[in-house]
Amino acid sequence: MNAPSCTQTAVLILLGPPGAGKGTQSRALERAFGLIQLSTGDMLRAAVKAGTPAGKAAKAVMEAGGLVSDEIVLGVLAERMSQPDTGRGVILDGFPRTLAQAEALDDLLALRGQCVGAVVSMEVDDETMVARVAGRFTCATCGEGYHETLKPAKMAGTCDICGGTDFTRRADDNAETARARLATYRQQTAPLIGHYEQTGVLMRLDAMQDIAAVSRDLVRMVEPVIRKGRSGGM
Ligand code: AMP
Repeated sequence: MNAPSCTQTAVLILLGPPGAGKGTQSRALERAFGLIQLSTGDMLRAAVKAGTPAGKAAKAVMEAGGLVSDEIVLGVLAERMSQPDTGRGVILDGFPRTLAQAEALDDLLALRGQCVGAVVSMEVDDETMVARVAGRFTCATCGEGYHETLKPAKMAGTCDICGGTDFTRRADDNAETARARLATYRQQTAPLIGHYEQTGVLMRLDAMQDIAAVSRDLVRMVEPVIRKGRSGGM
């Protein structure tokens, strides 16, 4: 891998279709390395819930499985990136999703003396992706993610992590919207794989394996990049 030269902390991108496991694996990386997960999907859902102007503009697009405008997404991301806790390094989950966003990210990072350390392309087949998305739900209290068959709670109805008993499902996690989101991914986001291959930071990960095996492979892949970033050599 021919990584570009830049200074400071790790910036990792998890790239992949909905259901590839980006959210689950970002949280595993947070725990393993103390990085901060930045999910633009989570930020937009929070904006929708809070009824902000950005949330109002994003709601219908998200429910249809399309992409929210670059302007809105960049606005919420830049605001979050300006907070000091991101200085230790971040995992971008669901961003960038277009070439224009990738370019805007490079500009944003350049202002901080940072650059993209690694992009992991999480590869799953289409039917697996739809099945994963359609069965998932989240603890409303702590945000831990579950799946009806692939990752059920140890005690049905109770969160393993915080003991909460309220769970939520995303409005766009149904088979029909999942297929629309997959089409959006193939059309607008998948070209980023070639883009990052050219810039020398792409790694490919078999995300069809079970959660623990994907975590193990992912940690092995990104550990050298994170260590290099922290020693100032990225
Ligand atoms: P996610 O939680 O990453 O699956 O995102 C949920 C939805 O939020 C997507 O289907 C998009 O409508 C929107 N969204 C999230 N991130 C982005 C992004 N980087 N660019 C445009 N839309 C986004």
